[in-house]
Amino acid sequence: MSAPELPREGVVLPSVMSADMLALGAQLDALIAAGARVAHVDVMDGHFVPNLTIGPDFTRAVAGPFHAAGGLVDVHLMVSRPGDMIPLFAPMADAITVHVEADPHPHRLLGAIREAGCRAGLALNPGTPVEHVAELGGELDYVNVLAVNPGFAGQSFITTTPGRIARLRALLPDRVVIEVDGGIGRATLPDARAAGAGMFVSASSIFGAPDPVAAFRELAGLAAGG
Ligand code: MG
Repeated sequence: MSAPELPREGVVLPSVMSADMLALGAQLDALIAAGARVAHVDVMDGHFVPNLTIGPDFTRAVAGPFHAAGGLVDVHLMVSRPGDMIPLFAPMADAITVHVEADPHPHRLLGAIREAGCRAGLALNPGTPVEHVAELGGELDYVNVLAVNPGFAGQSFITTTPGRIARLRALLPDRVVIEVDGGIGRATLPDARAAGAGMFVSASSIFGAPDPVAAFRELAGLAAGG
């Protein structure tokens, strides 16, 4: 089993941790109708990061409408011992990132993700040199560049991020997609895009807006270069 290709550019991923949990189905259906095709699932364990969020059952619920629409599910594991979690999430994920800071053997984890049938990526905290993943370009499908310290939605975009994305872009083969995660909104997305990011994760800027669908459409337009 091989997962579908990830979109290379111009894609906004709603981060479902910030959805209205009592209106989740309706919110996801509305975003899918507006063109959303990749859900971003933030898994936090209360150990690697100081927050506790989503598990496999919730992820399965989110995957239903996205897969029915031909879309994908991107799981971002912010957990210690990520290797233990890959088998729990792979059945409903299409792509999984693990943090390079969480395990000394990222090469092995990337292989485990691919063997589980998913696209494989590494995530980088803001304090981790982007050169840390340079040796693994051949094993990577994508890299998630954190633009905040992971753990909570609604944080401010760290302004060194576009420079980090540009340096990472120069280090990796063209086929490796760069995702940016944290603090993405109308004011920050264009700089991340210009630096070379192709996948843009947004939580608060979509679900915290008075009209999440309108907010998604605006970001999608910026991601497409509008
Ligand atoms: Mg994330």
